Amino acid sequence: MSELLLRDARIQGHEGPADLLIRDGRIAALLTPGAGGPDMPDVPDGFAGETEDLDGRLVLPGLVDGHAHLDKTLWGGPWVPHSSGPGLMGRIRNGQERRPEFGIPNADHIAALLENMIVCGTTHVRSHVDVDPLVGLDSVEAVREAVGRLDGRISAELVAFPQAGMLISPGTETLLEEALKAGVELIGGLDPAGVDRDPVRHLDAIFGLAGRYGAGVDIHLHDGGTLGTWQFELIIERTRALGLDGKVTISHGFALGDADPATRDRLIEDLAEAGIALATIAPARGVLPLRALTEAGVRVTLGNDGVRDLWSPFNSGDMLERAFLQARGTGARDEDIELVLDAATRGGARALGLEDHGPAVGDRADLVVVDARNAAEAVCARPRRSLVVKAGRIVARDGRLA
Ligand SMILES: [Zn+2]
Repeated sequence: MSELLLRDARIQGHEGPADLLIRDGRIAALLTPGAGGPDMPDVPDGFAGETEDLDGRLVLPGLVDGHAHLDKTLWGGPWVPHSSGPGLMGRIRNGQERRPEFGIPNADHIAALLENMIVCGTTHVRSHVDVDPLVGLDSVEAVREAVGRLDGRISAELVAFPQAGMLISPGTETLLEEALKAGVELIGGLDPAGVDRDPVRHLDAIFGLAGRYGAGVDIHLHDGGTLGTWQFELIIERTRALGLDGKVTISHGFALGDADPATRDRLIEDLAEAGIALATIAPARGVLPLRALTEAGVRVTLGNDGVRDLWSPFNSGDMLERAFLQARGTGARDEDIELVLDAATRGGARALGLEDHGPAVGDRADLVVVDARNAAEAVCARPRRSLVVKAGRIVARDGRLA
């Protein structure tokens, strides 16, 4: 049995200081300092585990990166000046053509980025991983190898992602199926209309594979305007028809952020009813209406997207930084900032189907400790993560792996 006691913690929604007792990877009890005086928690008899005194610091659920592209990263490698042509297709081509020049995918870069994510408090990541006839399944293997090197300090789920298109890139559909056979958890899609030019065929193929392999679905949808909102409808139809409630995510979905109020409200209602989640990345356009989505019961996860890669030199993998950027676009009130942090922690985990993401009794002990008084301050100040706990084990401390 492994035990860890976090003493004198500040926990959102809990009056006054508390002690968190963690046992075998789960939160076993939330103890309020009791009869022995304010400094003497009611530690169970026979407690023999590790104790950490948090001095009133804030305990948050572990940060969750709900939309990453680990395989593309150059983190820890050379600085590569941004070189892509304009638009989505320019980036796709540049990324594919220059990949061999830099040895992408590279498990060393991926592991270095994962290490930075861990010390920044991320305990779980969903990564899209390029699958196409040039790279085959190498990206899947590189990401898996890198995750393995981190030895349980972070968990990851992968999306087999047709970054170069599926119908326009012959051989990709077969490789996507190979990835699912190899145990990749989700099947991805990419602008069924804007990139693949045939949304019905694209979506039928993706959802067909999801049904055959029991995989989740996570579709990149950059297409805007009525072309984008129509594809929301196509995805909603297929999710309902196949009974994939809780297993489908739309990433970006800029068209929803830009839709007129009546279309927006109708789509939000349908997304909620179909159990479809959304993933967002603090975009400069098409910002999702977080408040309306949350009130309707649509789950939203926040992610970093690419980090230091051929698509963009930006980002660091730090989800508090990402939450800060998102919050700048969605509102300055504490309750607005809390909503964003929820999408980066507990709510974001729910969007990925992880229902027991702390910090309540019985939840998995994936936690991050920061020197802040509340969620809003944690996002605005982005303090150093003093402790990161994954499945009850201290995995990082003060910016370094433990
Ligand atoms: Zn993406």
